[in-house]
Amino acid sequence: MGLGEFEVIRRYFARANTRSDVLLGVGDDAAVLCVPSDRRLVVTVDAIIEGVHFPNDTSAEDIGYRALAVNLSDLAAMGAQPAWFTLALSLPQAHEAWLQGFARGLFDLAAQHHIELVGGDTVRGPLVITVQAMGLTEADRWLTRSGAKPGDAIYVSGNPGEAAAGLHIMQNSLPETAASRWLVQRFLRPSPRIALGRVLRLLANAAMDISDGLLIDLEKLCAASHCGATVELHSLPHSSSMHDTFDAATCERLALSGGDDYELLFTVPPQHEVEFSRLAVDPPCHRIGRITSGSGVRCTRDAKEVAIDVRGFDHFAGEP
Ligand code: ADP
Ligand code: MG
Repeated sequence: MGLGEFEVIRRYFARANTRSDVLLGVGDDAAVLCVPSDRRLVVTVDAIIEGVHFPNDTSAEDIGYRALAVNLSDLAAMGAQPAWFTLALSLPQAHEAWLQGFARGLFDLAAQHHIELVGGDTVRGPLVITVQAMGLTEADRWLTRSGAKPGDAIYVSGNPGEAAAGLHIMQNSLPETAASRWLVQRFLRPSPRIALGRVLRLLANAAMDISDGLLIDLEKLCAASHCGATVELHSLPHSSSMHDTFDAATCERLALSGGDDYELLFTVPPQHEVEFSRLAVDPPCHRIGRITSGSGVRCTRDAKEVAIDVRGFDHFAGEP
């Protein structure tokens, strides 16, 4: 490495404490954190690998942002409030410009959610960024995938499919328009839905974040909850950026099976639906179907069942 490991840590990752619950942060053999007695610790880890989870020409700033964003999204899906994270960084070389950009993207998002870097590891190797994020919930309230019940309404936040549309635009160098720029940003800079998760912990029966695709992830939620689901295709949110760029059939396929959105998929029981619909949540959420008894996900159009191959679209194949 150009810089030694110690210099990399000192220059880019050792920052002043911003949280009083960090008793010991970066610099010692381990961090010491204070969990209030009425809170529970929620822990998640995700690695992102160059060429697998982001294209090789992704900017350092976007990589730094994304590494933390995908983990914050998991905390959002649990209804947790972000608190601390650790960072294991495997780098081919220590380029200062790259590290500066990476740290900028990472700490920009960290500041937005008041989450503090408390330790990590820095090694030489292929570009792999592993973030472990920790959050806090009230002692008896967190969200799971397994709580959905027949009769629950199924909701999704934002516009699923936009991230996969953005990745396709990048990989195929489609012309730059206002719509295509927006879609690329949805891929590069997913918005972890922390505030929405905090609201949902009081109203939803089940929640998860969408990383692999709406239908595949809904199947996972149904399997965990031992129930089935019906999705009404006409109820899918309409993204004008997607419709400006792709035909209607492609938009629908992207919405159903495109990955990387990091939106929340959740179910609301009938007794909470009115209260939920009155809340002005950000981003807007759309009701797309109902949880049923049985198993598996069915799609309907005008109440008639239609066959959809949920794995029919592979965004890495580059052909929507
Ligand atoms: P050790 O030899 O005890 O494993 P290291 O030399 O790996 O410690 O790390 C020294 C300190 O720097 C530790 O507090 C560790 O948590 C922190 N650290 C190392 N790499 C990073 C990183 N990429 N981001 C944040 N903290 C880091
Ligand atoms: Mg040590």
